[in-house]
Amino acid sequence: MNTTTQSSVARPWFSLENHQPIAAWQSKTAVVVGGGLAGATVAYRLAQMGWKVTVLEMQGAVSQQASGNLAGAIHPLVTADWNLRSQFYAKGLESTLRWLQPWWKNGNIRGAQNGLMQLAMSATMVKRLQAGLEVMPENFAIWQTPQQASEQMGTLTKYGGLYFPQGGWVQPKSVVENCLSHDYIDVKLHQTVEDVQLLNMGANPKNDQAWRVLTATSHYDASVVVVATGALDARLNAKLQLPVRPVKGQVSHFGKSEINSALKTTVTHEGYSVCGDFGQASQVVAISGATFEAPNMTNHLSFASQQHNKTLATKALPNWLQSGDSECLAGNVGFRPTTPDHLPIFGEVPDWGWMAASYLQKNPSHAEHFYPKQRYQQGLYVSNGHGARGLMSAFLAADDIVNSLTGGASLLPETLRHAVHPARFAIRQWRKGLPQKNHHDQ
Ligand SMILES: Cc1cc2nc3c(=O)[nH]c(=O)nc-3n(C[C@H](O)[C@H](O)[C@H](O)COP(=O)(O)OP(=O)(O)OC[C@H]3O[C@@H](n4cnc5c(N)ncnc54)[C@H](O)[C@@H]3O)c2cc1C
Repeated sequence: MNTTTQSSVARPWFSLENHQPIAAWQSKTAVVVGGGLAGATVAYRLAQMGWKVTVLEMQGAVSQQASGNLAGAIHPLVTADWNLRSQFYAKGLESTLRWLQPWWKNGNIRGAQNGLMQLAMSATMVKRLQAGLEVMPENFAIWQTPQQASEQMGTLTKYGGLYFPQGGWVQPKSVVENCLSHDYIDVKLHQTVEDVQLLNMGANPKNDQAWRVLTATSHYDASVVVVATGALDARLNAKLQLPVRPVKGQVSHFGKSEINSALKTTVTHEGYSVCGDFGQASQVVAISGATFEAPNMTNHLSFASQQHNKTLATKALPNWLQSGDSECLAGNVGFRPTTPDHLPIFGEVPDWGWMAASYLQKNPSHAEHFYPKQRYQQGLYVSNGHGARGLMSAFLAADDIVNSLTGGASLLPETLRHAVHPARFAIRQWRKGLPQKNHHDQ
């Protein structure tokens, strides 16, 4: 008799039953492609477990792309119905805080857990935040009136909002550098990865699963490869079937003479504003951002974007910035690696050939138990699509990937694990009877 229960065959395309962790005899070596937040956090977790990790970065320094901002805000995503995305980012925030709290305390990174004030800038937002407050975990947030919010932030606002005592800001680059300073991590710069290939090492079946990462000038072999290339390598992302689209953002920087007072908390409004110590060589004492400018792919600063950032900040915090047009254009441009469903993509990469034959070329309308369980490319992982909220997802992704490859259970409940699964976009198209998308066109 077939004893398979209905629940054990639900979503066979996301099943981990055929996933094989790295075996004890395999070398504890990994190549991580990409020296941003996603790559550096995985590299660090592996190094902490005694793995030798090589990080390959195409640019002349790490953390130059989306992870290159002076500061990013750390806060949960509040929705009225506490939906899948809110649940995911609440879980992500837990991981983020577990990583950052000791580093903030010891001064290993730049940033502060100075609380985050999320201002409700419209009647809809008031409703959403207040409904969210009802369903979010206890002690997560406090509702504040405009007067309380003004006192909390140290500057006037006419908006109320939610205050998250655990929120704050961090400088992504300082996290990346802290992670990559681990003795077991070797960073190779100017290494543009062109391909990742499975090596068949022949006679000894125990050697069969090893990966070769090819750059223009060299190659690197390892048991595990984690590809964390962010938004801009369309070719490699398409090869891994990742529908990642770059969304340009400009953050504005302000010096002491451009603000009236330092904010006491991190603030989100229709953008976000942070005051702090961003680096000794830097004259910048405040930042505010960020624009969303897709499909603009130019990587230079613009006065129009700076004006946009100032307008958003001034609408929320009318007394914070000095008035008047500044001659000075200062800030940073980066490209967020976004996905169609605004959730990241992480985990072991499915065996795409097997998947095409077993699902995508089959009739999509059978009951789920009709289909076999997903197969994976053992030891090949991705961490990408961290979008506009990478500070609340990259740490969780790193924890979960390292757990997976060392044989631990996923840190995510099934619904959330499915929601970030690398196969989800292809599966959704197929189950709806739609043609597969060409990810170069995303
Ligand atoms: C303007 C802006 C504001 C933001 N604000 C916030 C915020 O307030 N809060 C928040 O949580 N998040 C924020 N984010 C999002 C967050 O910064 C990103 O989600 C995160 O930095 C993504 O990290 P990543 O490592 O995936 O990508 P990246 O930092 O882009 O890293 C990818 C790296 O891979 C390298 N690479 C690419 N292709 C190759 C290749 N073929 N070979 C070798 N190396 C390669 C790149 O050079 C790059 O260094 C913001 C992003 C932007 C742009």
